[in-house]
Amino acid sequence: MKKKAAVCLLSGGMDSCVATAVALGEGYSIHALTFDYGQIHEKEIACAIKLAKDFSVEEHRIIDLRLIGLFESALTGGEVIPENRTLKEIKEQTEIPGTYVPARNTVFLSLALAYAETRCADAIYIGSHAVDYSGYPDCRPEYFKKFQELIDLATKKTVEGGEIEIRTPLLYNGKAEIVKKGVELGVDFSHTWSCYKGQGKACGRCDSCILRLNGFKEAGLTDPIEYEI
Ligand SMILES: [Zn+2]
Repeated sequence: MKKKAAVCLLSGGMDSCVATAVALGEGYSIHALTFDYGQIHEKEIACAIKLAKDFSVEEHRIIDLRLIGLFESALTGGEVIPENRTLKEIKEQTEIPGTYVPARNTVFLSLALAYAETRCADAIYIGSHAVDYSGYPDCRPEYFKKFQELIDLATKKTVEGGEIEIRTPLLYNGKAEIVKKGVELGVDFSHTWSCYKGQGKACGRCDSCILRLNGFKEAGLTDPIEYEI
């Protein structure tokens, strides 16, 4: 029998990596999709390429969105990336942080949907989670529910009775649970990158490094990547 297929958004970060490992564990053949939207570094994309090999994906597409210039964010050099915030400050912030990228998940999921329909895939996996508060509106459970409703109306496959399901296996997991799940699934976290900065070593000071380091600490494990601090 032909294996069922899934499109996995694979950024090179630890969340998308673990979500892809879940998809693999659930028996899907993987079509990995990575976006270059002008991040100030390319470390994440280099990691996505390593991970795609680790997972023996069916196909890995890296889509260059840099030239369209529509993603103004601290992650694309537009604003200063916050540093040295406490966990409490990160989790209890009420404003949407400068690392928000305009409509990122909507753009990514739309392209993933086109890819999924093209490859006759039944599912799209995305590693978003809503527990360690990111403040991003497009990571909320209600956002994914609405996007699913859109998918059900939007494609030839779905209106003809087929299914393309958005799967968010980490939506209710904190970072420590994501680390543990990844270890259980045999993920090589040395092939993932979370730092917003992307120098030789991870900075250890940006929100993403702080949440990642705390996740490993709470899981009782050591992060295999090197930090400046
Ligand atoms: Zn960092």
